[in-house]
Amino acid sequence: MILSPVQIAGIGMTSQRTRNRMMDRLRDRGIENERVLETMASVPRHLFVDEAMATRAYEDSALPIGDGQTISQPYVVARMTEVLLEEGPVSKVLEVGTGSGYQAAILSQLVDVVFTVERIRNLYEKSRTRFRALQYRNVHSRHSDGSWGWGANGPYKAIIVTAAPATVPEALLEQLDIGGRMIVPVGNQRSQQTLMVITRTRTGFEQRELNDVKFVPFLSGKS
Ligand code: SAH
Repeated sequence: MILSPVQIAGIGMTSQRTRNRMMDRLRDRGIENERVLETMASVPRHLFVDEAMATRAYEDSALPIGDGQTISQPYVVARMTEVLLEEGPVSKVLEVGTGSGYQAAILSQLVDVVFTVERIRNLYEKSRTRFRALQYRNVHSRHSDGSWGWGANGPYKAIIVTAAPATVPEALLEQLDIGGRMIVPVGNQRSQQTLMVITRTRTGFEQRELNDVKFVPFLSGKS
């Protein structure tokens, strides 16, 4: 993918003004972390969706990214990111479900290094091209089934899962560091998922429920 300066700068519905409006809406909806808000305004979401969808990129909605998957709604991206950072700075994050690469790009501006895995080859390849073109150099991605996490770089103080499993895979719990937090939508139907924060303690795991959400299903195996 070669991006022209016009595409990168954005025109009309993809301009900086449109992005700033999105930031204001996120603030109105309760996002408080200024660094998260600024990052949401600076990362060009229109370059993470197909060109035909670009004019809708700064609406607060999930959008199709091909292969039956969706880029998450900006509010949900902002909220998950805010919760991930609420206990202080994080140096390393594992994301399961790269999709378009948007959530990873947001995180890359707020942490030292992002590891992200995607099970669908086509999405993995497209997101990689974006990371390169937009120079998100601290994002490392891999085509694999995230049920197994990415053990070689673990344990992690922060794990974010952007597809909904019915139950949290054991390997992901194991790769969570003591004191580490995982944000994951749990539920086996699109209409019944709850965003959970799971914290690993010295003796086990604690969990807290946030709001109800709608994510694509977490599936095993690669395609
Ligand atoms: N974070 C993404 C959201 C994409 S939707 C973004 O910002 O665009 C969730 C993604 O999770 C889909 O691309 C889907 O293919 C992927 N996914 C689902 N189950 C997975 C698994 N077991 N391992 C890796 N990726 C998975």
